[in-house]
Amino acid sequence: MPQHTRPRPICGHCDGFPTVAVTTGQTTPTGHRQTITANCPACHGTGHSLPARTFTRVGV
Ligand SMILES: [Zn+2]
Repeated sequence: MPQHTRPRPICGHCDGFPTVAVTTGQTTPTGHRQTITANCPACHGTGHSLPARTFTRVGV
């Protein structure tokens, strides 16, 4: 089976799930649970580790 290689590596901080819904414990006036979304601080909600734009080979 073909395995698609992702162009960018998955963010190791959130493991590819950059945005999560967090219940606040409160309910909206309509009775639904109120949730807030939080983005991964490491990848800022992209789900991928930051591409090495300033690509510099360190070393020899
Ligand atoms: Zn992340």
